[in-house]
Amino acid sequence: MRTKVIPIVDLKSQLHDVQEAARLIASGEVVAFPTETVYGLGANALDSKAVNKIFEAKGRPGDNPLIVHINHISQWDELVDSVPEKARILAETFWPGPLTIILKKSSIVAEEVTAGLDTVGVRMPSHPTALKLISESGVPIAAPSANRSGRPSPTTAKHVLEDMDGRIPMLLDGGVCNVGLESTVLSLAGVTPVILRPGGITVEMLRQVIGQVDVHNNVMKPLQDGQKPLSPGMKYSHYAPIAPVTLIRGDYLKLIGFMNQEAGRLEDEGKRVGILATDQTLRSCNHGIRLSLGDREKPSELAFNLFARLREFNHLEVDAILAEGIDEKEEGLAVMNRMARAAGFHIIDL
Ligand code: AMP
Ligand code: MG
Repeated sequence: MRTKVIPIVDLKSQLHDVQEAARLIASGEVVAFPTETVYGLGANALDSKAVNKIFEAKGRPGDNPLIVHINHISQWDELVDSVPEKARILAETFWPGPLTIILKKSSIVAEEVTAGLDTVGVRMPSHPTALKLISESGVPIAAPSANRSGRPSPTTAKHVLEDMDGRIPMLLDGGVCNVGLESTVLSLAGVTPVILRPGGITVEMLRQVIGQVDVHNNVMKPLQDGQKPLSPGMKYSHYAPIAPVTLIRGDYLKLIGFMNQEAGRLEDEGKRVGILATDQTLRSCNHGIRLSLGDREKPSELAFNLFARLREFNHLEVDAILAEGIDEKEEGLAVMNRMARAAGFHIIDL
């Protein structure tokens, strides 16, 4: 299969291009498209066969459910059992935007989308091309990130092609995704709202609007043997570059000392070492192949850079990556959640 890549530079004058992609979606095909979080791989959420093509292209385990993307609130009412007051308020505040809300599902959602669960995650993306694609296709679009399962999520069209070239019929190239990490996944299906995956809408922001919001234990900790995950995604390895990642966190001065020492030790063993750290830390680093995550004081900048940097290390063919842990406040929690998983929870606490 040849993957047709269409750069979307001016949505208004290129409506016909988006309509071509929308026709593919409506006819049961998959299309990769930009959102403000990461690139998505979309299919008609009401069509089981179409949704199966997503799992096939990604190599995604069939029990890991997909998020459904809508462009209008009225679509939400059809996809879920009912929309409670808190959900309504959150949608009014944060949609369109990087917040996925999980509620009990209705019967029209394809079984494959929810992987047999009785709940469905829905969000309204803010990227104009994504919104136009959904409205032109006339159906809600189920879309996970457009990477091969287990790899870092794509934040540029080039990343999508690295993983999907020849596996999907079309990719809309909308440039760089400006959030850079996937949406926050918030479950409102239980008694207390709980974050299953942190993202661009932070726990601090959610608490300001609806009060109590819990952060699930497994956001920063691996599942115990035999533990059933509340969100199936929690049990899979994720976001991993090819080289093994070690995440280092704790006292900042110790961290700098340890990174230098460990990088030196690995270099002495003849290894190519990748250092993934903030601007501030890199100033004191004199070993390895160094890539910047951005300004330590700006968690949204760190979020924006993370996945692209992990992919860059693949091209640099490093043997090991040492990654700097950052504060788990604001978007920092989402960054640390992704880094811990990229490291397979190989974390050194200083
Ligand atoms: P991705 O589509 O790659 O961004 O991953 C979607 C994430 O949302 C995965 O971690 C899923 O496990 C999670 N998710 C989607 N739908 C549900 C649901 N109904 N209940 C719990 N988690 C969900
Ligand atoms: Mg994903």
